[in-house]
Amino acid sequence: MKSNGFFVRKLLGPLKRMAKTADAQGEPAGCGESASFGAAAQKQNEDMLKGVRMRQEFTANVTHELKTPLTSISGYAELIETGLADQNDTVRFAREIRTSADRLLTLINDIIRLSELDGGEDAVSFERLNLYELAKSGMEMLTLNGEKHQVTLSMRGENCFIDGNRQMIEELLYNLCDNAIRYNNRGGRVEVFAGPDEDGGGAALSVSDTGIGIPEEHQERIFERFYRVDKSRSKSTGGTGLGLAIVKHIIALHDARMELWSQVGKGTKITVYFHKTLE
Ligand code: ADP
Repeated sequence: MKSNGFFVRKLLGPLKRMAKTADAQGEPAGCGESASFGAAAQKQNEDMLKGVRMRQEFTANVTHELKTPLTSISGYAELIETGLADQNDTVRFAREIRTSADRLLTLINDIIRLSELDGGEDAVSFERLNLYELAKSGMEMLTLNGEKHQVTLSMRGENCFIDGNRQMIEELLYNLCDNAIRYNNRGGRVEVFAGPDEDGGGAALSVSDTGIGIPEEHQERIFERFYRVDKSRSKSTGGTGLGLAIVKHIIALHDARMELWSQVGKGTKITVYFHKTLE
């Protein structure tokens, strides 16, 4: 059996790597040719401070997110251990422990995934993919999830091709559709479109929903790690606050572009535009 130390090191490695790159998410500290040396130095200083702040914030967020389910696991286990809980309580506490453990696993998986994506595109293999076919089979896998939330899924579009990484495109689609279902209303709809992008000559993938929408003042920030509009809704539906950060990475690694439209009470649409395939 592997020791606890092994697992702690396995988790800490990616965390350290991510803390290092968390500050690399913003604009580079470049300066225009016309900018004076003083202004450039000041900008560099500001960027450095921003980097330090983001690293601290990221570490604090990860620590907090991991501590909450662990504290709950430890607390319920202690209650069972003391022997004070009756049979009914024991079953309920065991359920709480399992829920928190599942939550922890999802969180750790997302953290590790984000850390892998931070590694850049060195080891990423690209192939010619039929975006429409991929989206269609991905959606079929989400039908049950939709039914659970009483949300209907539908698909539109036609065959179109991109140079992409299959696993990443599947993840991107999963994360967008999962959000479209989780932030929807009962009886709501989710529509996925995949097809040629008439304007750019490439391909477009969009996921639109009839859900709760995102207030304008939050729209710019939802792609940040751990940023959530409504924390309790995110957590109660199994969210980690990292799904869209993963999406943002995947879009960047594909040199693709994204557009977001959302209106409170009406719904949300996220469209990803891919370049033409190299044939
Ligand atoms: P989470 O795991 O919390 O869903 P994400 O990174 O996937 O994290 O999304 C960040 C936040 O953006 C969510 O917590 C939610 O507030 C908001 N959000 C994302 N997608 C949608 C959507 N389709 N409709 C409404 N809000 C959304």
